[in-house]
Amino acid sequence: SQENLRPKSIDLSHHLNTLSRSRVPSPLKDIIKYMREPGMISLAGGLPHPSLFPYHSLRVDVYTPDTLDGHGQPSDASTGLTLHSEKYGDRDRTGTDISTGLQYTTSKGSERLSSFLQKFTKDVLRPGFTDFEILLNFGNTDAWSKVVSLLCEQGDYILVEEHTYPSSQALWAPMGCRGAPVQMDKDGIIPQALEQVLGGWNEAVKGGKRPRLLYLIPVAQNPTGATLTLERKKAIYDICVKYDVVICEDDPYYFLQLPAYLPPEQRAVRIATEMTPEELLEFLVPTFLHLDWQGRVIRLETFSKTLGPGNRLGYFICNPIFAERLQRASEVMTQAPAGWSQIIVEELLCTWGQEGFLRWVTGLRDSYTVRRDWMCDSLVEFFDVVSAPEGLAADVIAYPKGRISAGKTAPVFSFSYPKGGMFLWIKLDLSQNPVYQRMKANGEANAEQKWADEFWMSMIRAKVLLVPGSYYTPILSNDQRMKQDGAVAYFRLAYSLESREDIHVGIQRMARTFDESWEFRK
Ligand code: PMP
Repeated sequence: SQENLRPKSIDLSHHLNTLSRSRVPSPLKDIIKYMREPGMISLAGGLPHPSLFPYHSLRVDVYTPDTLDGHGQPSDASTGLTLHSEKYGDRDRTGTDISTGLQYTTSKGSERLSSFLQKFTKDVLRPGFTDFEILLNFGNTDAWSKVVSLLCEQGDYILVEEHTYPSSQALWAPMGCRGAPVQMDKDGIIPQALEQVLGGWNEAVKGGKRPRLLYLIPVAQNPTGATLTLERKKAIYDICVKYDVVICEDDPYYFLQLPAYLPPEQRAVRIATEMTPEELLEFLVPTFLHLDWQGRVIRLETFSKTLGPGNRLGYFICNPIFAERLQRASEVMTQAPAGWSQIIVEELLCTWGQEGFLRWVTGLRDSYTVRRDWMCDSLVEFFDVVSAPEGLAADVIAYPKGRISAGKTAPVFSFSYPKGGMFLWIKLDLSQNPVYQRMKANGEANAEQKWADEFWMSMIRAKVLLVPGSYYTPILSNDQRMKQDGAVAYFRLAYSLESREDIHVGIQRMARTFDESWEFRK
């Protein structure tokens, strides 16, 4: 079978930094495995006695997996399932008792949850190498900090997308690491641009070694919404093999890959709701993990977007050498994830089953499709939106409403209809903006940033809040950010949270603010 053709991971231990090489097993944690041996009387561990935990039983009412029917919210407020955990379970129950779930464990955490995820990964993501391992963590924020402390040294360059997730940079910048940005277009980072950065690396000019780590958000990228195609993923993976680069794929939006946006008049029937989990799996672009025949991908999985961020639960999927070192780090940094989270998520997933979880994420994806459409419909309503010319890094260009035919007009921004996730990214063209033109005429330094700050404030006065694009600009070193080219500004809009009505009003307010800033008279 194909399974037999898949190789084991190669030894990439030369990527480990001094810190992670030097870690030794936490002496206390090592004892736990012996405590589990039959017949062992443990006078060793400082474990609190579970009879002294004040919790007796746990009951959590949850939805059935088919509850999300694609209308943007649960179809029925009633819950169909109840999860239980007792302090001391009976022998017939497979679930984790409270007395075990709240006790100290190895830093690997719940075996039952880990094996569910191991099987899920094998069946659904189908890693390209056979000896992948699962290690639970507290979500992708925790995971990324552990990856950086696994691989990076002070002064290292890290390959990042041209617009990148700010919290990921805020972690390594104070440690003295530096960003090496890779150019993007509407499909994410461009393989040739990655090749150029790596192939053309000049240590003397850069004052540092060629990057050995690529951090990216391959699906519904935060902030741009771009999703890498399979061809690009293959090309990027090959380049990383060529230059011996480890790929960290931070992929919280993987299951939220959406069908192409169609304007309301072309959208006769919602087909999205009819998609089965099997069809969804066919539709999803395979992960870097799937393409990885060497074990050079560290995949970060989180339940934040599928089951709720407050679970603070996620997991690494990576090669055994990295997994072992990450576990050593977990022992001294965090230990295993919180017991309550593990009990509840484990019970939920094992009760739903793999099919059920896939059903849930299919419904979730339908719900975000509907939300995406709310925002795009409003943009199409309050702006005149036309196809972008070939070569522009966006699907469409937005003009102020009713002004294209009036002759003298200019586009105000361009964007792509999101094909995934929660965000829509707009690129403003400032060249015809009178406020910006006056700033330039007055010779103002950094006019784009000043203009964007003022525009953002005028949006806030109009009671609509966006994220300034500058938050996502790569950090080149602790006191320097990448320079943006030309008369442009970026903003990120999220359609994940507000109601249909509020998204509609929000975009209307935004359109008015554009009109005012461009000094169009009604
Ligand atoms: N990475 C990316 C790209 C994200 O968008 C987010 C959530 N905004 C996170 C990480 C944080 O995820 P978690 O809640 O799992 O820490």
